[in-house]
Amino acid sequence: MKDYKDTLNLPNTAFPMKANLAVREPEILKQWAEIKLYETLKARSTGKPRFMLSDGPPYANGAIHLGHAVDKILKDMVIKSKTLSGFYAPFIPGWDCHGLPIELNVEKKVGKAGHKIDAKTFRQKCRAYALEQIDIQREAFIRLGVLGDFENPYRTMDYTYEADVVRALGVIAKNNHLHKGFKPVHWCVECGSALAEAEVEYQDKQSSSIHVVFLSTDPKFETIFGLKEKGIKKSLGVVIWTTTPWTLPANQAVALNPNVEYSLLNLTEKPYAVLVAKERIADFEKQLGVTDLEILGECLGSKLEGFLLQHPFNDRQVPIVLGDHVTLDAGTGCVHTAPAHGLEDYSVGLQYGLVVESLVGADGCYLEKTPIFAGEHVFKANPKIIELLKGSGHLLKQETIEHSYPHCWRHKTPLIFRATQQWFISMDQNQLRAQTLAAIKKIQWIPAWGEARMEGMVADRPDWCISRQRTWGVPLAIFFHKETGELHPRTLELIETVAEKIEETGIDAWYELSIEDLLGHDAKEYEKSSDTVEVWLESGVYHECVPKRRPELGFPADLYLEGSDQYRGWFQSSLLTAIAMRGEAPFRQILTHGFTVDEQGRKMSKSLGNVVAPEKVVNSLGADVLRLWVSATDYRSEITVSETLFKQTSDIYRRIRNTARFLLANLDGFDPEVHQTPSDKLLQLDRYIVERAASIQADIIKAYAEYEFHVVYQKIHYFCAMELGSFYLDVIKDRQYTGMQNGIPRRSAQTALFHIAECLVRWIAPILSFTAEEIWSHLPGNREASVFLTEWYQTLPTLLPSTNAWDSAFWEQVIHVRNEVNKALEEARTKGTIGSGLEAEVDLYCDATLFGLLSQFKDELRFVLITSRATLHESNESGLRITVAGSEHAKCERCWHRRRDVSAHPEYPGICSRCVENIKGPGEIRLYA
Ligand SMILES: [Zn+2]
Ligand SMILES: [Zn+2]
Repeated sequence: MKDYKDTLNLPNTAFPMKANLAVREPEILKQWAEIKLYETLKARSTGKPRFMLSDGPPYANGAIHLGHAVDKILKDMVIKSKTLSGFYAPFIPGWDCHGLPIELNVEKKVGKAGHKIDAKTFRQKCRAYALEQIDIQREAFIRLGVLGDFENPYRTMDYTYEADVVRALGVIAKNNHLHKGFKPVHWCVECGSALAEAEVEYQDKQSSSIHVVFLSTDPKFETIFGLKEKGIKKSLGVVIWTTTPWTLPANQAVALNPNVEYSLLNLTEKPYAVLVAKERIADFEKQLGVTDLEILGECLGSKLEGFLLQHPFNDRQVPIVLGDHVTLDAGTGCVHTAPAHGLEDYSVGLQYGLVVESLVGADGCYLEKTPIFAGEHVFKANPKIIELLKGSGHLLKQETIEHSYPHCWRHKTPLIFRATQQWFISMDQNQLRAQTLAAIKKIQWIPAWGEARMEGMVADRPDWCISRQRTWGVPLAIFFHKETGELHPRTLELIETVAEKIEETGIDAWYELSIEDLLGHDAKEYEKSSDTVEVWLESGVYHECVPKRRPELGFPADLYLEGSDQYRGWFQSSLLTAIAMRGEAPFRQILTHGFTVDEQGRKMSKSLGNVVAPEKVVNSLGADVLRLWVSATDYRSEITVSETLFKQTSDIYRRIRNTARFLLANLDGFDPEVHQTPSDKLLQLDRYIVERAASIQADIIKAYAEYEFHVVYQKIHYFCAMELGSFYLDVIKDRQYTGMQNGIPRRSAQTALFHIAECLVRWIAPILSFTAEEIWSHLPGNREASVFLTEWYQTLPTLLPSTNAWDSAFWEQVIHVRNEVNKALEEARTKGTIGSGLEAEVDLYCDATLFGLLSQFKDELRFVLITSRATLHESNESGLRITVAGSEHAKCERCWHRRRDVSAHPEYPGICSRCVENIKGPGEIRLYA
């Protein structure tokens, strides 16, 4: 018997089935480094429109976690898809380098600045530490396949960046947004510093809750309630409720709501009657454990403005003030007001000209001037104050409650509100809030709810306290008058001088500058600020610091893409500073992603033990599997992480890889320059699949443009699994393997496979970057050194048919018929009538329409159905009826079809006439499938 194996065109490729990504990906990284991929793209950017995505800087501390990985991979998918779309999309990764976490890590090693080590050396250690951390994170980002200018990142501790932060502050001052205030801020006693909103965490805390009486000294009270006429001889008081007894020494007023009705209640066992909001009486009685207190009189809050009360233990009188912030959801409707220790108290204090004087020092202890409690730590003073009130008869009720209370995010200790001298970017002094709210409307927010969220935050936010009391940070490089607090009249000029020096030698330049040298004879009247600027301000002014140093960047950016926590953080600090400096938003679009959570929806945390390190996934499954997982998730909500998901993703990865491998293996020996079938000679089926690819490509490009990566993922997966895997690739195997090597039926399919491979490799490149590059290197034909040096494959439309009977609608019907036939074959297989489909002969009884359609295939229908014979019959029945029979003919050894003409040719025993033609020439003719 003759061996026909050598006459078959069996698939062959060096592209391995097993991905082995953990080993292969680092090799591809080396290739990218060798060809200087990022620099090459930059060099070719001339004439292309620019797309600018600004990288929000991660903090340079510790190994990257999965959230960092998701963030950078999403950015990379944006950058690469934009590059493929014909944009020049530079990506300059950045790092946030100043601030407390680095100080704390350095303190652990060398002690606090100013104690064992001088501040300058301490800052040098911080700088060195940050550099080490950046290197660790940089390697990890590169390993994920992120393409960017990692050789020249931006760092907020670069001398130029530090200098430009100082300059930015100058512009903000020039535009009249800066003011100095004595204002309560969240203060951590452990940090010895004010905290930003983003650094405050709410936790439950046990506190003493007390009801305290402030007795009246004002004769107007008796008059307004007509006590004399009623013959009542009691004194009169106002009841306040507080959970921070330590703020009582700083009490400057009691606030009432002007529109609330207050009642004077007779406390029978006390020598006084007390004022409580009418609506709060029931709760007040419950607190005191009494019922039906006698009401001696009623009065609107507004009538009591300015009435005086005696402070319960200090020698001063405090007024009743009015404010809408007084609500009736808790307490007595009479609010203890200490302007130095609460924001609303502060506001009402400003209005009434109350003293905003803090009695508490940076260490949390009362200052010397404080009567009775000087030197005492505020939290330790609480019980003593309560004792004092009890002894003097001012305490009505005391209990311990648990409530949500602000804590330091780092120390996890309770914070205090403390008025300190701070510098602020004012929200309203020069219209910053109004301008920002207007700008928010012009930005495209993805998802759309981002607009309302940002609007709410900006509408409600207090002035932005930008001064900090730290060592490792950009100095608040200003001089202010010792008495008036006014900025020096030459502030802008001085700032530029300081900035120039910082640009040369870094922030130490500021600390080494003598005020005398800079200010001359003014020096005696002015003070040099010892504060640093808040780190959110530093990263926020990226839009000012980086683009002007990089010709490839500009203002505004097209896109900022960060986690949804950045509405509070970077998005807001960037927006406010840009508006304050230029009156314009620094970005056109904002895109946010959710946080990574485990299968139960819990945030990743060390204490829960559910943390998945990106490094672990990369070193086992490969960065491409991690990237595919990121693309598969709708990242706008929470991003679920689990072993099962990674396993499923690996399976999908394998499917895409195997599809690519099939394409490459069947392109063995195909030279696109020589072997491409001209489009007018392509078989109908091949035209159809190219048309499908073109249509899917349009969807994919659109999805990339809208950052809908999960849609891209679904489209690619569906195309590989269904349209190719379950249909097209199955049908063409016969032509591929048994057709004449250089005949049109085979070359036509190869032409289609080639175009599909050209598409697919680009579609997956932003997601499966390593695998795409690997496929690229195995594709036939002359090509660029990297898939990332190319753009979307635009050759497809020229291959498409003009409208004819073989359109998509037609093929959808064919696929439907094929599915019906497969069902019938499966039934026959179950019954044992046939084994494989090629053992079957099928008869199709169709109505006239379907008969007309399918007749177009002539004798090629059997190839679509992958049976040895397929015969059409026109029938009066509606729809389609299928019968299956086992073939009685011999099996062709070469193509496995069972045909009457097997062994008909004496020189070619065992094979069919079609096979003889394909071996000997001129090759069978196929037009359709
Ligand atoms: Zn702290
Ligand atoms: Zn054959």
